[in-house]
Amino acid sequence: METHPYSTQSVKNWDSGSVAHTYGRADLVVKEGKGSILYDYEGKRYIDLGSGIAVTTFGISDDCWKEAVINQLNQVQHTSNLYYTAPQAYLAHLLCEKTGMSRVFFSNSGAEANECAIKAARKYSDDHYGPGRHTIVAMKNGFHGRTITTLSATGQDYFHQHFDPFTPGFVFVEPGNVAQLEQALQEHRCCAIMMEMIQGEGGVLPLDAAFVQKAAQLAREQDLLLVVDEVQTGCGRTGKFLCSQHYGIEPDIVSMAKGLAGGLPLGATLFGPKTADTLGPGDHGSTFGGNPVCAAGAVSVMERMTDTLMEGVLERSACIRSMLEGAPGVEAITGMGMMLGIQTTKSAPQIAAECLKKGVVVLTAKSKIRLLPALNIPLPLLREGIEILKEAMVP
Ligand SMILES: *Cc1c(COP(=O)(O)O)cnc(C)c1O
Repeated sequence: METHPYSTQSVKNWDSGSVAHTYGRADLVVKEGKGSILYDYEGKRYIDLGSGIAVTTFGISDDCWKEAVINQLNQVQHTSNLYYTAPQAYLAHLLCEKTGMSRVFFSNSGAEANECAIKAARKYSDDHYGPGRHTIVAMKNGFHGRTITTLSATGQDYFHQHFDPFTPGFVFVEPGNVAQLEQALQEHRCCAIMMEMIQGEGGVLPLDAAFVQKAAQLAREQDLLLVVDEVQTGCGRTGKFLCSQHYGIEPDIVSMAKGLAGGLPLGATLFGPKTADTLGPGDHGSTFGGNPVCAAGAVSVMERMTDTLMEGVLERSACIRSMLEGAPGVEAITGMGMMLGIQTTKSAPQIAAECLKKGVVVLTAKSKIRLLPALNIPLPLLREGIEILKEAMVP
């Protein structure tokens, strides 16, 4: 097999010459890794506390996950959705069993999972109430994706520049503000309320439980669909399979992606009993969605979503909090499980850059440091990484 002459410099040159400049890249060319350790082309070791933005659920090149994926690769890599494949069907079964939802539509990303959720919410309303009852109330400071419609559902002005016109039919309320929510539902003909349980890109901000429960109640009373975006919070990230399970609500539609297939692209839109048959033949589709290789990876991830794993997530979360609470330069810690945001005195991008130099990968969200480690990161490695982060946060 030919090996390409990849090096730090050649990769950076091709990237700056030929890749669209949509990303502000950190100074790390990842060559390979194992578990929660990454290596660059110089052989430098990094502790990974970001897992590719909550995607590599069990770390890099995890043996069990890799076996499932390679096994599927050896059988068939793609068939289109004109035919049945075992991993997709079994994955849907596992997702329904785990969440109490009724059906699943598979796509390739979080944005697509949300697009599907939005289409289903509108069609449900159209089926039951006729046209016009189509407004979706979403949260200010939310994030639902980068397509025109999911950007339209994203309640941040920053994302609403340059791309006019947006998809109509979205209004925004302050998360936590029940009066605003009630007013929006009165003023518009609504079909759904859409929210993240913890606003991830918005700065790792958990929604208030009383607000979420009130929203669920209003949705139930007015036959609006409660759409919960669990693209980042789902798949065990917060110590339960879905973050909405912490809130004691039963969403009508749940979107998932990021960590679901452990590092392969897969989106899933889960439908509860109300919307189980809303999308029928021809209403929606995807060429790649539910691809057997990605689905096989996801089946392997799902099979490891045990109570023991969830206890481990909470234990690791407590470890991070106990090491950082009250540490110099730490102002506040938000989030749940292994989705944590740290408000720091020093600027977060500066801290992240210093961590990288010292061999620790951390993320930022708004003005915060954001931690999204692999759910199985070994505790000693986690402590080693957090210790370095702690030093970098000292003002
Ligand atoms: C990342 C994210 C998305 C978008 O997912 P993509 O796979 O990048 O399309 C949507 N919603 C939330 C809450 C996310 O965190």
